[in-house]
Amino acid sequence: MPECTLLQLTPAMQNLASSATLSMNEAVKARKAAGRKTIHLGFGEASFPLHPLLKEALSRAATHTGYGPLQGIPTLRKAIANYLERTRQIAAAPEYVAVAPGSKPLLYALMQILDGDVLLPIPSWVSYAPQARLAGKQVFGVESDPADAHTLTRERLSNTLAQARQQGASPRILVVNTPSNPTGGMFSSQDAEAIAMWCKAEGITLICDEIYAELAHGWREHVSPARFYPEGSIVTGGLSKAFSAGGWRLGYASLPITDDGKRLMTALRAMASEIWSSATTPVQEAATVAYTYPPELERYVRRSATIHGYATNRLYEKLVDLRIDCPQPAGAFYLYPDFSPLRTKLQKRGITTSEELAHHLLEEWDIATLPGVAFGDRPDALRLRLATSMLYVPEDVESEEEKDVVLWELLEQADRLPGNGKDEGVGLKLPELERVRERFEGFVKSF
Ligand code: PLP
Repeated sequence: MPECTLLQLTPAMQNLASSATLSMNEAVKARKAAGRKTIHLGFGEASFPLHPLLKEALSRAATHTGYGPLQGIPTLRKAIANYLERTRQIAAAPEYVAVAPGSKPLLYALMQILDGDVLLPIPSWVSYAPQARLAGKQVFGVESDPADAHTLTRERLSNTLAQARQQGASPRILVVNTPSNPTGGMFSSQDAEAIAMWCKAEGITLICDEIYAELAHGWREHVSPARFYPEGSIVTGGLSKAFSAGGWRLGYASLPITDDGKRLMTALRAMASEIWSSATTPVQEAATVAYTYPPELERYVRRSATIHGYATNRLYEKLVDLRIDCPQPAGAFYLYPDFSPLRTKLQKRGITTSEELAHHLLEEWDIATLPGVAFGDRPDALRLRLATSMLYVPEDVESEEEKDVVLWELLEQADRLPGNGKDEGVGLKLPELERVRERFEGFVKSF
């Protein structure tokens, strides 16, 4: 007799696990609580201290306890529209900007609202595919080229689209993410334009997740594909990465300034009204200060990007020294190395998939990573995502106050770095990062 449970899940939820990143974070916390030291490269959290301007703005607004407007408070929407126009040359207007508790629910709402199946780059962020499937869509992965910073070519996009149509699907959405989680890669201006023009020619809506736009390391300019296809592009972003305020849960979506954009906003407002009502009011008021982007905040963000660039580049150099293939990161705080040069040796230890490799690194080397398979990569591709943003505070620094002191000092030092990921005599001290470099060296040389 089939088992009958009182709390029966829907078929869609029966196969859905928690997001790989959040699960890894919890596993690492549990290991630490059990006294097992772990180098945490598994979770991408920007963890610089909050800028005092934002702290003051939040305390000033603490008593504003009423619900905010569905779409977001007008001053914030205006600040975001100006910010996008000024810093990214994207056509934006306050009436076409929506604010929500994080960009994640906005991305999910867009999946619910927009018609058609979804094209996703391989690899891409862990939540896009589950969100699309939850919304009843089919997902088709577009292979990217690891030898060329995992960029997408028109040819590969067209091939995937044709295959999907042959299978009876109807893709009408492409989600891109530049700088990219998991690769740290960024589209060149030519790539951004080519992808946008391909979408335009095929009548595909382009969702540009630009949550890491401010964290370009300095050697490649962030170019939004939306610049080239404003009528068909939606840009999302938020406070989580550039302002190190993920827990504030504040994201935005900027829609095309067209009649279609207006209809989309009506649908988005309807979703907001049934699910989140509004983003937290005091956080929206503090976010208005963030997006007004005074010089102090601009400096803080630039310094954070420089430190992220330095850390990823230093690990990149080590991996390349060890003859591990790895595209050079240009933004955010991720690397996406490919351990296939060790495939035969790994096989002798029974490791043939990215999941087995991640497991081995965690159990034998105390390094927490995420397997490429979580980002839609083939299970046997020996790629891992490494996040470097949790390596800035020495292990023995425990109190929050001490951590803040260390991190502010680090940000101060960013101005002395050349901005190309190199140290050039500055002598930046990141002991945890050095430990990771040594640990990978030990691992590779253990064969
Ligand atoms: N998009 C990407 C690529 C991310 O890495 C993340 C967070 O990890 C998000 C979106 C979600 O950001 P938010 O905090 O705005 O929901």
